[in-house]
Amino acid sequence: PLVAPAPQPFPELCARIHARVAAFLDEQHDSERLKSLQAQTRISLDIICEALEKYRLPELSLAYNGGKDCLVLLILYLCALHIKGLTPADPNADPDTAIKCVYIQAPHPFQEVEDFVAASVKTYSLHLLEYAKPMKAAFTDYLRDVPVVKAIFVGTRRTDPHGEHLKHFDPTDSGWPPFMRIHPVIDWHYVDIWTFIRHLNIPYCKLYDCGYTSLGGTDDTHPNPVLAKKNSNGSVLTTPNGTKTAYFRPAYELVDDYEERLGRDR
Ligand code: ATP
Repeated sequence: PLVAPAPQPFPELCARIHARVAAFLDEQHDSERLKSLQAQTRISLDIICEALEKYRLPELSLAYNGGKDCLVLLILYLCALHIKGLTPADPNADPDTAIKCVYIQAPHPFQEVEDFVAASVKTYSLHLLEYAKPMKAAFTDYLRDVPVVKAIFVGTRRTDPHGEHLKHFDPTDSGWPPFMRIHPVIDWHYVDIWTFIRHLNIPYCKLYDCGYTSLGGTDDTHPNPVLAKKNSNGSVLTTPNGTKTAYFRPAYELVDDYEERLGRDR
């Protein structure tokens, strides 16, 4: 894997991530998918580096919920910190160097998501604050608790709800707590996200191996029906005892952007 579960010194971790991303960008590929992913990766790194020039590190945060899109964003952020020489020995020793994240917990969170977020905090030395309330109230509280934050990286993509017209830098809409939203992976497709995660061997939340393609809470998220395993006669395999995990193919086998949320109720 790209990162070991045991924490590594932060500068080494970021150097290792940078080396792996740089090696990927240097690879010669005939596949259009990989070539376009290399181009998207360069664009995303440029946007993150631009953000690191526009804002001081303490002014930046990342909206992180353990999902696949913000995981890719986190890896690119750590890569960019190495490029910019912003990798202190212990980021948590000083509020000015902390790698800030904000996690808004779903009303009924999956234990697997909670565990993955906790593991990410350790592995990547994140300074993560957690809020269990609706998005708007959570961001209001976050900016009150950490008023130095001016801009937040968000892993929204074009095909997500409300993603269609977003730019790389967008101030929040009126009625929302004021901060700059930064969308470095806005033009990545579903397939790009999984190709990157698998090509770089990045550890991810295990729910994705059980057919979940987008993560909400236990009350509104199911394995994606498109990934249901079929019998040779084409009928869906049914579960004898309600075990939901064994009968779905992994998330990375889905292709169509617009089928990603078919396992979400809302
Ligand atoms: P997935 O779609 O597989 O759940 P994801 O959570 O990364 O992956 P989205 O659900 O499309 O992606 O959300 C887009 C982005 O919004 C996330 O990448 C993250 O930056 C932010 N976000 C969404 N929900 C939360 C949350 N509960 N807490 C913090 N950030 C969030």
